[in-house]
This record gives sequence, structure tokens and C-alpha cells, in this order.
Amino acid sequence: MSTPTDRPTERPADRGDDHTRRRLGLVRERRLAVDRVACSGHGVCAQLLAGVTLDEWGYPVVADDRVGEDGRAVADTAVRLCPARALYLR
Ligand code: SF4
Repeated sequence: MSTPTDRPTERPADRGDDHTRRRLGLVRERRLAVDRVACSGHGVCAQLLAGVTLDEWGYPVVADDRVGEDGRAVADTAVRLCPARALYLR
């Protein structure tokens, strides 16, 4: 039988265990989205993000909209640099 003192003192979120943090809902995967009305086809997003290409008219095609923690910094940069403010994370 375990006693309260047998419990680990470290919470799962403190260990940096991504899988556990995801299961507990502490890490939320973000999704990249484009406001197609606002987008003016500058193509900055396609230059920065591997999951984005441009169609024949220069407008973005988002092949993979998932943004994990490792891709978050570059995705934030792409959102900030989008000249039409058409790129966002949800
Ligand atoms: S950077 Fe912004 S305006 Fe340019 S193609 Fe991408 S979403 Fe559209």
C-alpha cells in the first residue's frame, strides 16, 4: 500500500515529457490557416514554411497545417511577416 510520501513529487508537466503533457492537454498543437480573402499572394509564408507551397497564381496551398512545438517559432515569424495579415494560427 502506498502512502502519500511514496508519490513522486514531480508533476508530469515538470519533466518535459511531451507525450504526457499532450495527453494532459498542456500542449496544444496549433493549426496554420490562411484568410483567403485577405491574402494578397506575396508568398512569404511559402518561403518560410515547409508545409506551404504556392499555386500557379502565387497563392498559398497549405499541405500540412499542423504546427508542433518545434515549428512554432518559425510559424510565429511567418504570421508576423505576412504583409496582408492573412496568415494565422488557430
Ligand atoms: S504571406 Fe500572407 S499574403 Fe503572402 S501568400 Fe502567405 S498568407 Fe498570403
